[in-house]
Amino acid sequence: MIVLGIETSCDETSMAIYDSNTNSILSSKISSQVELHKRFGGVVPEIASRNHLIKLEEIFNEVVNDAKIDIEDIDLIGVTNAPGLIGSLFVGVSFAKGLSYSLKKPLIGVNHLAAHTLSTELEHLELSPPYISLIISGGHTHVYYVDKAYNFNLLSYTIDDAVGECFDKVAKKLGLPYPGGPEIEKMAKNGDENRLVFPIALKNDKLFSFSGIKTAVINTIDENKYTAADICASFQKSILKNLTHKFDIILKEYKVNKLVVTGGVSANGYLRDKLTKYYQKKGINVYFPSKRLSTDNGDMIAYTAYKFFSKKIFMGLRETAYDVRPNID
Ligand code: AMP
Ligand code: MG
Repeated sequence: MIVLGIETSCDETSMAIYDSNTNSILSSKISSQVELHKRFGGVVPEIASRNHLIKLEEIFNEVVNDAKIDIEDIDLIGVTNAPGLIGSLFVGVSFAKGLSYSLKKPLIGVNHLAAHTLSTELEHLELSPPYISLIISGGHTHVYYVDKAYNFNLLSYTIDDAVGECFDKVAKKLGLPYPGGPEIEKMAKNGDENRLVFPIALKNDKLFSFSGIKTAVINTIDENKYTAADICASFQKSILKNLTHKFDIILKEYKVNKLVVTGGVSANGYLRDKLTKYYQKKGINVYFPSKRLSTDNGDMIAYTAYKFFSKKIFMGLRETAYDVRPNID
C-alpha cells in the first residue's frame, strides 16, 4: 500500500508517503512554525491553524512529486485527529477528508501519541510490542503498556505540567529563547548536575507531577545564588530521576524488556544516554526514534495508519470517528 500521512496537531505541518511493500518512507516534509511563534514565547493556536491552511497544499504537492507517484497511487490516507490544538487538528482533518472524498480512498484517524510510539518501529525493524511506551513532549507525559495487538493501556500520566512544558517554563525564567528544551540541554553541558537537588513529587505513586520541580527551580533562580549552567544541569538530572523513579515503580508491576521513549523531549541527548545506561543494567533495551522523528512528523502518521488499517484497528486509542478530539480522553 502507498499511504499518505498528514500531521497538523500543533505547530508543525508535515506529510509523508509510506510504501508498505518496501517498509520505507518515499518522501517526507516537515514545515516548522517555530520562528512564527518564537516572539510570543509559545504556540499561538490561531496562528498555528492559519499557517497549516497556507502550507498544506504546497506540502502535499511536494511529497507526491518527491515520492515519484501519481495522486491516484495513494491507497490510504492517515491523519492525526487527536490529541492536539483543536483548530490545527481541524485544518488537517478537513484537508484529509476532502482528499479521501475526491480520490475515493479510505481515511483513518490516527492518535498522535500512538504514532509517536510506533515511529520507533520504522527505524528499529526488530522492535514489536509488547513494550512500555513513554511519551515526553510539550503537552504530554504519558506511559502506556502496548500489547501484541497494539492495544494502548494507560499506566501513568502527569497530573499537572508535561515534562516539555517544565523545560520551556524554566528556560523562559532564565531568559532563554523558545523552545527552551534544547537551550537547557546546551547550557547544562557546562554545569554541575550535583550542585542542587530538586524534589520527586508523589514518591510512592506512579503518577507524575512536575509543577513542584518547576516552582522549586524558579525559586532557586530568584535567589540569584547559582549559575544558570548549574541550575540547568541539576534540573535536567532531577527530571531524569523523576522518570526513572516512576518507571521503577511501573516495572515492578509490568515485566517487560523493551522501553520506547518518544516525543520532543526524547531528543535530549543527556536523557537518552542516561536512560539507556540505567535500563541496560536492568536488562531492558531502550528505543528512541532518530532526532528527526522525535518531533511531530507525517512519517509516523503514515506508518501508524498502515499498521492500524492492516490490523483492522480503526480506533487508535479508542478513537471512534475521524472528527477531531483535542483531549486524549
Ligand atoms: P513536541 O511537543 O513533541 O512537539 O515537542 C516539543 C517539546 O520538546 C518542547 O517542550 C521542547 O522544549 C521539548 N524539547 C525539544 N528538544 C528538547 C531537548 N533537547 N531537551 C529537552 N526538551 C526538548
Ligand atoms: Mg508531538
